[in-house]
Amino acid sequence: MQDTDYVIEMRKLTKKYKERFAVKELDIKVPRGKIYGLLGRNGAGKTTIMRMMLNLAVPTEGEILLFGESIHKNKYKMYHKVGSLIEAPGFYGNLTGEQNLKILAKLRGTHKKESMKDALEIVGLEKESNKIFADYSLGMKQRLGIAAAIMHEPKLLILDEPINGLDPVGIVLIRNYLERLCHETGTTIFISSHIISEIEQIADVIGILHDGEMVEEATMETLHKRNRQYVEFVVSDSYKACLILEEIFHIKDYCVNGQNSIQLFQSFEIRADINQVFVENEIKVFSIHLSEQKLEDYFKDLIGGEKIG
Ligand code: ATP
Repeated sequence: MQDTDYVIEMRKLTKKYKERFAVKELDIKVPRGKIYGLLGRNGAGKTTIMRMMLNLAVPTEGEILLFGESIHKNKYKMYHKVGSLIEAPGFYGNLTGEQNLKILAKLRGTHKKESMKDALEIVGLEKESNKIFADYSLGMKQRLGIAAAIMHEPKLLILDEPINGLDPVGIVLIRNYLERLCHETGTTIFISSHIISEIEQIADVIGILHDGEMVEEATMETLHKRNRQYVEFVVSDSYKACLILEEIFHIKDYCVNGQNSIQLFQSFEIRADINQVFVENEIKVFSIHLSEQKLEDYFKDLIGGEKIG
């Protein structure tokens, strides 16, 4: 792939606040028409990256290219092709949703009545468009922010935690829309979240950020393949059971959790035989079941501490 095929390219992108790295030497490339999901816990550096992409913060080192051009050399040149929702959307509280969008459209020089109406409809706000913004619920404010980001039909959408404050119906609505937008019009989407299940459902590629550094970057396909299946035996004596696994069945790929649980990562097809030999050797078998290591657990192992999401 040629470098110009990337809509987003970050090269050694770094941001320091005093002596502390908020973002450290990031190299991210996003091809046209893909959804890149940035996943990280609070304070991981997601917003800082997006602020730098929008020229709202200056990198300490490194650079960002959008549509193949450096945003530092060509300040603001490419921003008519970009839509963004970052932090709390700033709207006038005393104006209606529609009036707010009109002002934004005029400022951007892209006033098209149809696209504004379409955007309101897409986010499910068409009936509420004449309501004063201050009277909007949190979710409605967030939807208006998304409408503002998409109404000029950008080629790149940068969305910082877009589902914050949305109810389950709103989440599905926005998720379906973003998927359609990406697949039908080739729009590139850069989206952040701290909720694994949300990113998992939408992203083509996922980047896991921890303390400003990329700890893993992979396609969703690869991540799902990595989710290992295993058979768990809950037994009365795991020590004795392990001896049988190794000496009789020559199984090495397993792990023991405490005194009673054994996770087997191979030979699923002979679990009934294993069970029979355990019983013949006076090991009580309380349960056997096939499970899958969840993506959530994988991330927990990766970044330590509590689960994200
Ligand atoms: P959240 O999910 O909570 O929004 P985030 O992943 O977006 O988190 P950032 O807001 O990018 O994280 O913050 C990354 C780090 O940089 C944090 O430690 C934060 O305290 C620090 N930081 C961000 N902005 C500033 C600033 N203007 N001055 C000093 N430190 C900052």
